[in-house]
Amino acid sequence: MKTSLYVHIPFCSAKCRYCDFFSIPLNEKTGQGESENLQKNLLDGILSELKIRLSELVPKKIETIFIGGGTPSSIKPELLDNFLTGMEELLLGLIGDDAEISIEANPESCSVDFLDVLSNHRINRLSIGVQSFDLKTLKKIGRASFPENIYDTVAGIRASWHKNLSLDIISGVTADYMDDIEKALSLSPEHLSVYSLTIEEDTPLYDDLLNSRIQPPDEELQAESMTSVSAFLEKHGFYKYEISNFALADPAFSNECRHNLMYWNMQSYIGIGPGAVSSLYFDDRKIRITNTVDLDLYISCFTDGLRAPLTCRTTEVLSKFDFLLEHYLMGIRLKKGINPDIFRARFAHGPEYFIPETLSKWQASGLTGPGCCALNEDGMLLLNRFMSEVWDELKKKDFF
Ligand code: SF4
Repeated sequence: MKTSLYVHIPFCSAKCRYCDFFSIPLNEKTGQGESENLQKNLLDGILSELKIRLSELVPKKIETIFIGGGTPSSIKPELLDNFLTGMEELLLGLIGDDAEISIEANPESCSVDFLDVLSNHRINRLSIGVQSFDLKTLKKIGRASFPENIYDTVAGIRASWHKNLSLDIISGVTADYMDDIEKALSLSPEHLSVYSLTIEEDTPLYDDLLNSRIQPPDEELQAESMTSVSAFLEKHGFYKYEISNFALADPAFSNECRHNLMYWNMQSYIGIGPGAVSSLYFDDRKIRITNTVDLDLYISCFTDGLRAPLTCRTTEVLSKFDFLLEHYLMGIRLKKGINPDIFRARFAHGPEYFIPETLSKWQASGLTGPGCCALNEDGMLLLNRFMSEVWDELKKKDFF
């Protein structure tokens, strides 16, 4: 079984006001000692979970690893170093020479010590959550913690990081978003993720919206900014391969994020750590496992061994309908569209077979791309509408 591995490290230096990911701000921990203890216990637990999951699944090869969160760079460097060593020992013989191994960082915690730790290990892709180089924009989106001279900080990181670098930028929050894109480009990243701000329920920013302290994101500005960003980046040697992701064109090497491609192409992955999700697509069953977000419970299962590992997760068997729908939902995000070979191997037909009415309608409106089941730039701006029509058509025909 070939698979990918996602490792969720749920700590951040502070909580951003728009964030609905499972992450715990370390600044809420009272003492340094308490925070370090928690980090150590959690990392020990993740290694124990990895050991158990590998013995359950017996994978032949791990194609990609993504250490995300949260903010892995917020972990004390010595602890992170030991953790990465532990992971490498457990994965010995399973990681090919060509594996992509990514880690996420935030500018304020991407220190020299953190970069030194990465150089001791096989990490070959660093993804930095910049969001914006403009302090006003960062305040507006509720970025909790960032350096004053954020551009110089990220330029310093680029100067000492010689492997693949990806930068995350938020677009369309203010009208001068192109400034951020230009600054990001001047740092010579190999990959850029450009997301529009969404205000999720149960976040402080949502509360601001409900109480009219902020305006909702301007959808027209966001759509317009995505179109201008794509055109600008394409002029500067990047190409869009997913709705929010751009890779620097290189004839000798693909700079696309192989780990995320595994998700978009509906390949299996194991997720470890609190709150992590695993999707395992066996021939005879498709299952989704979700780990607990209760840190004490997680630690009692995997660090202290006081509870059975199974009490720490819930398992759901995906119905054929949900599995089919997810292929459309994930694959349609890609510029190339849904991978027809993977789709056909699973459903005995190509992706066009199940949704001919939706596809011919979107084709007639000039919104489809050249791929087998793909949207063009304008079509991608209407992705939610496309998926709602796909859902209606699949439900109406009742294939399963
Ligand atoms: S750094 Fe990322 S994961 Fe952490 S709180 Fe901010 S948005 Fe959430």
